Amino acid sequence: MGKASRDKRDIYYRKAKEEGWRARSAFKLLQIDEEFNIFDGVKRVVDLCAAPGSWSQVLSRKLYLPAKRSSDSKDGDVPLIVAIDLQPMAPIEGVIQVQGDITNARTAEVVIRHFDGCKADLVVCDGAPDVTGLHDMDEFVQSQLILAGLTIVTHVLKEGGKFIAKIFRGKDTSLLYCQLKLFFPIVTFAKPKSSRNSSIEAFAICENYSPPDGFNPKDLHRLLEKVGSPSGADDLDCSSGWLEGPNKVYIPFLACGDLNGYDSDRSYPLPKDAQGSYRSLDPVQPPIAPPYKRALEMKKASSQGITELEKLSLES
Ligand code: SAM
Repeated sequence: MGKASRDKRDIYYRKAKEEGWRARSAFKLLQIDEEFNIFDGVKRVVDLCAAPGSWSQVLSRKLYLPAKRSSDSKDGDVPLIVAIDLQPMAPIEGVIQVQGDITNARTAEVVIRHFDGCKADLVVCDGAPDVTGLHDMDEFVQSQLILAGLTIVTHVLKEGGKFIAKIFRGKDTSLLYCQLKLFFPIVTFAKPKSSRNSSIEAFAICENYSPPDGFNPKDLHRLLEKVGSPSGADDLDCSSGWLEGPNKVYIPFLACGDLNGYDSDRSYPLPKDAQGSYRSLDPVQPPIAPPYKRALEMKKASSQGITELEKLSLES
C-alpha cells in the first residue's frame, strides 16, 4: 500500500502524522482516557511494551509537559514516567527508557528501582507479540504478555491504582476477566473507535487495585491457576462452572471515543493544497532498530546476489 493510499484508508494513521504522534495507537490511549479519566491525579506511571513510543508521548504531553510548564511546580511534583520495551526507542521528553523483556522477573526490579521505593498510580501495557494469524495461538501469547504485565503490577502499582492492558478477544476472554477481577473490583473491556472492528484487539481497563488480603506476589501464578479450576478461588464469583449456563460471566464491554468522530474502518478523502494536490507526510519517528531490519538487509543482500548471478549468466 502506497503512503497516500494508506493515508486515505487509515484516517488515524494520517492524523497521527499530522499531530506528531509516532504511531496511530496514541489515539487509542487518548480515547480510553476520554471515557475513563485514567490520568486523573497520576504522578507515577509505567508504560510496558512502549516502542515506538506513541503512548509514552501521550503520557509526556498529558502529564509531564503540563507539570513542567506550570511555574509553581517543584522538581518532586513532576510526574515520573518509565517506559519499557524489548526494542530501543528514540528519546521522549520526561520519559525514562528501559530496554528489557517484561516477562523477565528482573524487569520489575529495574522499574521498582526507578520509583525509589514509591509505587505507581498507573500501569499501561500495549504489548503485542508478532501476530501469526492463528487466533488461538495469538490470543495465548497475548495473554502471557498480560500476565507478565500483571506480575509487574503486583510489584509496582499502589492500592487504588489503575492497569490498562491490550487484550485479544477470544475464547479465553472470560478467564482473563476473572483473573483480573481477583485484583481489581472494576474491570471493563473497551474498544476505542481508533481500533479497527476487524481487529480482535480490545483493552482491559482495571480500576482500584485491591490485591486479596495477605497476597504475596510470589503466589500470583498459583492464584491465577485456581481461577476456573474445579477447586476455584474461594472469593471469586467466577469459580468453577462460570463459563456456561446460569453462572456465565458477563463482561462489561464498552465502545469509547467520540462516537461521531472518525471511523477507523472508513476511507476519507485526502485534503488537497491550493494546487489541488495532496502531500503525504513522513512518519514522525521511524523505529530505530526494528526486528525486521535484519530481515530486510538479508533480503536486499540476497536479491543483489541473484542480480549478480543473473549478470554472470547473461555475460557467459
Ligand atoms: N504502545 C506502543 C506505541 O504507542 O508506540 C506500541 C506498542 S507495539 C503495538 C507492541 C510492542 O510490544 C512492540 O514494540 C514490542 O517490542 C513489545 N513487546 C512485545 N513483547 C515484549 C516483551 N516480552 N517485553 C517487552 N516488550 C515487548
